[in-house]
Amino acid sequence: TTFEDLKNEYGMSDRLLQNLATATYSKPTPIQMQAMPLLLQGRNVMASAPTGSGKTIAFLAPIINDLRKPSKVGFRAVVLAPTRELAAQIYRECVQLANQTALKIHFQAKSNNNNETSGNANKKYDILISTPNRVRFLLEQEPPALHLTEVEWLVIDEADRLMEEGINNFKDQVDVILAACTNKKKKLALFSATYTVPVAKWAIKNLPNLARVIV
Ligand code: AMP
Repeated sequence: TTFEDLKNEYGMSDRLLQNLATATYSKPTPIQMQAMPLLLQGRNVMASAPTGSGKTIAFLAPIINDLRKPSKVGFRAVVLAPTRELAAQIYRECVQLANQTALKIHFQAKSNNNNETSGNANKKYDILISTPNRVRFLLEQEPPALHLTEVEWLVIDEADRLMEEGINNFKDQVDVILAACTNKKKKLALFSATYTVPVAKWAIKNLPNLARVIV
């Protein structure tokens, strides 16, 4: 499989193909070969692949491809990662990959205390990249500082860390966020370095007709 094959078989856009080439990604990695066709077809996917295997592109490219044009209805995709640093890395890859698509991407983390996501500003952006902690905080403002009713894609990266039982309450936060994504046609993608029982349980409960990928 090449990125060109993904374009021909699954209708990946020329723009995306060019942006992958500009990033000097000449050939899909194994996780990309397996997960991208499923996500390009709009399947719910639970994937596990080691850190550094190219999983970020595996979920970003199909989402950017699917959203295509900015629509100003509010966030249509949300990507969650456990820490601000990981979310920032995803943001940088997303900006690069969405170059010249006109999609607007927003990075929200604790230290940017601007009001960027409050009220109508929501409608300026297509993709939100943040942490569960931050997104739940914004959802729970009175009135809510964030609306996720238009979300078509919810991606949970490092799901093994987010679903871990323990001192953090990531899992509760993710559950609140999922409940706020009320669009019935939304798709979910769960990516993790390891395949754990809590991740599998959460996926089976929340991802109808899920496809599993293990690299
Ligand atoms: P990730 O697993 O998403 O953290 O990606 C690890 C690294 O691999 C990142 O620095 C990416 O820029 C790089 N990468 C992702 N996809 C490819 C590819 N198809 N070819 C070469 N490098 C890639």
